[in-house]
Amino acid sequence: MSHFQIQNCFDSHVHWLATGQMSVRLRLQHLKCEDDLRQCRILPTHFQGEWLVGFGWDHHQWPGQQLPTRRLLDELFPDFPVSFSRADGHAAWVNTRALQRIGVLDQEGGLKALPELKGGRFVVDEMGLPTGVLVDLAKSVVDEIIPEPDSNQVRTALLRGVDIFNGAGFTHVRDMACSESQFNESCHLYESGFLTLAVEQFFSADDPRYFETALRLAKHARAEQIPLLRASGIKIYYDGALGSEGALLSAPYQSGSGQGLELLTSKELEELMRQTWESGFSLAVHTIGDEAVHRVVLAAEKVWNRGCAGHLHLEHVEMLRPETVTHMVNRPLTCHLQPCHWLSDRQWLNEKLGPLAKLVFPWRLLQENQIQFDFGSDSPIEPASVANNFKALEESVVQGVPPLLGSPLVYHSHPDKTWVPNTYSLFHGGQPTEVVFNGSHLT
Ligand SMILES: [Zn+2]
Repeated sequence: MSHFQIQNCFDSHVHWLATGQMSVRLRLQHLKCEDDLRQCRILPTHFQGEWLVGFGWDHHQWPGQQLPTRRLLDELFPDFPVSFSRADGHAAWVNTRALQRIGVLDQEGGLKALPELKGGRFVVDEMGLPTGVLVDLAKSVVDEIIPEPDSNQVRTALLRGVDIFNGAGFTHVRDMACSESQFNESCHLYESGFLTLAVEQFFSADDPRYFETALRLAKHARAEQIPLLRASGIKIYYDGALGSEGALLSAPYQSGSGQGLELLTSKELEELMRQTWESGFSLAVHTIGDEAVHRVVLAAEKVWNRGCAGHLHLEHVEMLRPETVTHMVNRPLTCHLQPCHWLSDRQWLNEKLGPLAKLVFPWRLLQENQIQFDFGSDSPIEPASVANNFKALEESVVQGVPPLLGSPLVYHSHPDKTWVPNTYSLFHGGQPTEVVFNGSHLT
């Protein structure tokens, strides 16, 4: 399939601000080993405050597949704190300065205290000292103290994000990570007529401590009634990612690292569902592992059965058990899948998951049970691209993923066809050749 048209072309899971920021950030996707970092040219735009930040390293691409350590960072960058996110955004590689800033190491580099975190871990060496890799909520401890970009940087990045999505053919996105500064700047973009993108807006509470703030912001956004910025709901995390073995599984990872992370108890989750739904918003929950999806669906079932109505969005659902599906049928829920993750994950899925690998990329199972789902990219984790998803759908069949039935186009079209009239995208050879938003030609 290479020539097609999509009405309200939709990417159902993106990080809008991060997508725009990525083009000026230090990118580490190309590192073939830890040592390649020596060749990277560091520019002033790579800093946030005094922190050097970067994104995209993936030790699965390196010989031996060993996690990096702070030793090299300390050698190259002894004078300022450094934090480099892993390609899946669920782990950070930091230097000694960064560990000193968060109070884990003292000024001489000795261990002060290693926080006990339920939903995260500091990787340690045989001496019990942190190696410089922080997973999930341990990464959040660092993220919290990196200064926020200023309003100008935010606005520029959002505009760049709009260009990137429009350039890839998308006129509608579901953004998962809105903060207060992002919302304010996106309102400015709308008012000045630069917003050529319809955004279903989710306000993120990466850590449950920020839930109240996110809910308050969502209510404020809803009251603003901006037609292109729909205040849809709150996004929370239930587990981590497969790449860093934080996704919650029903059996241990083959490496022996455990079964992954549960970032909330079921009780806490039920309470967040209740509060979100009673406020009239949808709740989006990051669930990648099969056990995470299962527990989140069971928690929602309890809340629904108590008479509290609300829509549940399951983000990623990279693994799904048939027994979980029986609890999903005829319920107000939508799954958001990113076939393109298969292109990056296929090389280690079997090795990491063993027998559980048969549960991955369950679009067919969802189709057979008539459960609603959409496709997206998780941009900037994967590039926003319809073609990439179609490629993954085709190639995954060869490795035994049950094929999607019918046309994949419907899963890339926003379900609300009335939201922004005269809006469509034409594709030739899988690439967008004409993008029309609200009657005007963007390309
Ligand atoms: Zn995401």
